[in-house]
Amino acid sequence: MDTALPLTDPRYAVTGSNYPLNGKQKALLALAEELGPRFAARAERYDREASFPFENYADLRQAGLLGLCVPEKFGGKGADLRTYALVSATLGKYCGATALTFNMHACSTLWPGVLADDLDMTREQRAEHEKHRALHFERVVKHGAVYAQPFSEGSAAAAGKAPFGTTASKVDGGWLVNGKKIFASLSGAADYYGVLCTENKPELSMRDTLYLAIPGKAPGLSVTGDWDPLGMRGTVSRTLLFKDVFVPDEAAMMPRGIYFQAASRWPHMFTTLSPTYMGIAIAAYEFTVRYLRGEVPGMPPVKRRMYPTKQIAVAEMWVKLEQTRALFLRMLEDARVDPPKDARLRAYAAQYTIMENANDISRLAIRTCGGQSMLKSLPLERLYRDSRCGALMLPWTAELCLDRIGREALYESGEADD
Ligand SMILES: Cc1cc2nc3c(=O)[nH]c(=O)nc-3n(C[C@H](O)[C@H](O)[C@H](O)COP(=O)(O)OP(=O)(O)OC[C@H]3O[C@@H](n4cnc5c(N)ncnc54)[C@H](O)[C@@H]3O)c2cc1C
Repeated sequence: MDTALPLTDPRYAVTGSNYPLNGKQKALLALAEELGPRFAARAERYDREASFPFENYADLRQAGLLGLCVPEKFGGKGADLRTYALVSATLGKYCGATALTFNMHACSTLWPGVLADDLDMTREQRAEHEKHRALHFERVVKHGAVYAQPFSEGSAAAAGKAPFGTTASKVDGGWLVNGKKIFASLSGAADYYGVLCTENKPELSMRDTLYLAIPGKAPGLSVTGDWDPLGMRGTVSRTLLFKDVFVPDEAAMMPRGIYFQAASRWPHMFTTLSPTYMGIAIAAYEFTVRYLRGEVPGMPPVKRRMYPTKQIAVAEMWVKLEQTRALFLRMLEDARVDPPKDARLRAYAAQYTIMENANDISRLAIRTCGGQSMLKSLPLERLYRDSRCGALMLPWTAELCLDRIGREALYESGEADD
């Protein structure tokens, strides 16, 4: 029994029942479950206004969760990727946009945190990294700073297939950044933007990717474009423009060349968007059961569970949910540096399954609950719209997962095209 989670019916818990959790994980999941209902209550407004969930971030800050993935020696909660994913999925049950933006922040501490500990660095690089990350972590833990993760540019770079077009030129004491990032979640809300860019050399190379934290108020940084999308509206993912933005050397979140190593050796980092959608899938299923049982607060207690078609639909949803959850949890067990090939292929399959099934479960939920579930007063139509976004998110979109599985199943590493 997950005794630390008394309020959650295990069918609706991210881990289900009898999943091995350590004490820290139980406490963190209980905390996320405690915050969740407040997030759920605010979700409709953020969605309607397409506004950033500032109140939820105040709660996360207050609960110490901004430091979730900051290593304990820097004052954080020291969550590894698996623990992060379980917490993130739990938040995703209550507010997708909060969970998705929290992903951008938490991963900004995961990359330079526990993940970087596994990477090869020279003594000098390690010393530099310790110095720089101490600064970033202090901002988060002591000052409650929020980091965003704007990687996408509308080119092949975010898919991991070309160098980023945003460049950083070395100048005395730091870097001058120029370029553009699209779909920057937390735009206008983040204190720092953890930007991936390429060191400006005569020939741009993915090996020269730099990971720099640019203050939200830096001169030369502007937020442009409107934001009125289908789903995930509370992420406020507008465009960032960088015009000769200076950042000092300590803005580096990883030493030169290390992000490229991290991206190649830690593929599970690219699954970290999926917990949000795992949470949405659970929420859509849970809502459907409660609705058919006539147990949705604020709704008349009309029962619809006696119809065989509803029972079959719920059965179909449960089968999909369990398939998705099983693969999600299995994938998290695999997450480590240099995973074997089967684990990498499984990670693609898990990401694909979670993103596609979250939307499919939400679709079935709407069909099953019927016309009233289309109303904005109920959360289902939002879950449906939010869940549509997952499969579109780079670098592991549903399409690119299939692309990678097909290619890597048929070619061993280093084998050339036929
Ligand atoms: C709600 C939301 C929030 C987001 N937040 C962030 C964020 O905080 N940070 C961030 O960096 N990004 C973020 N993104 C962006 C996201 O990850 C993608 O970069 C974006 O959706 C790409 O849009 P696009 O149509 O320009 O993609 P395109 O590059 O035009 O790609 C379109 C599709 O083509 C396929 N494709 C792309 N490249 C290749 C290739 N080389 N080979 C084969 N197929 C390919 C992919 O399946 C892709 O979905 C967010 C997106 C959404 C929807």
